[in-house]
Amino acid sequence: MPYLFDNLEAVLEVLTLSPLGLITDIDGTISEIAAYPEEARVSPRCRESLATLSKRLALVAAISGRPAQQAREMIGVEGMVYIGNHGLERWADGKVAMMEGVAEYGAKVKATLGELGSLLAMEGIALENKGIALSIHYRQCPHHQMARGYIMERIAKSPSARGFRIVEGRMVVELRPPVEVNKGIALLGLVESYRLKGGIYLGDDISDVDAFAALHSAPFKGLALGVVDEETSHQVEKEADFTLNGVGDAERFLRWLAATVPEPER
Ligand SMILES: [Mg+2]
Repeated sequence: MPYLFDNLEAVLEVLTLSPLGLITDIDGTISEIAAYPEEARVSPRCRESLATLSKRLALVAAISGRPAQQAREMIGVEGMVYIGNHGLERWADGKVAMMEGVAEYGAKVKATLGELGSLLAMEGIALENKGIALSIHYRQCPHHQMARGYIMERIAKSPSARGFRIVEGRMVVELRPPVEVNKGIALLGLVESYRLKGGIYLGDDISDVDAFAALHSAPFKGLALGVVDEETSHQVEKEADFTLNGVGDAERFLRWLAATVPEPER
């Protein structure tokens, strides 16, 4: 896949469209993957670029697998829209709005956490309560494939887990409410509410490929930027228009963008 910094004219072309949106994933895209999710940070320089862009573009949004409230705390830019749990919730105007019918999954997450607690006996496994969803991280396990197999086996044996949809990401297995939602659907929702004519999306994982595809659907002009490293799935590289090498490069791009997008005319 072509490298973005060799093809900046493609970005300049999208920048002529208005209203324009910048939408980004968080983990692995604008924050380095940490040993444990609570240790991940967005750098002050990156925050500064996003803050500048949120004043100059029709929309700057983050779409994350994290809860919306957590995504907001991590980035901390007022004026941005935060979509959490892969589209199940949205933080805007001072509060979190959930999709219909998913709030009841809070109790189911707690019950499932109780049943899957025995997973913690395996070294390195971390359970993350995301309110209406549950993540099981195995990045810190000495044997990733073995850990993944063990997690899948335990999930299959948990009665409470049965009501959830199982989705995999980078060294993580997630249990989500069985609602037809993904980052692509979330993205199209934003395109519609902000009447966007163009957009730029940054992501690093399989779940971002849905957003890449949505971005390429007419009548909208979008650039899908894959933030890649040695762990990146082939699909991400295949579906992206251009690539950036890791979080450092994504930060560099946002800085370039903040310096390039003009202030809106008054
Ligand atoms: Mg990610």
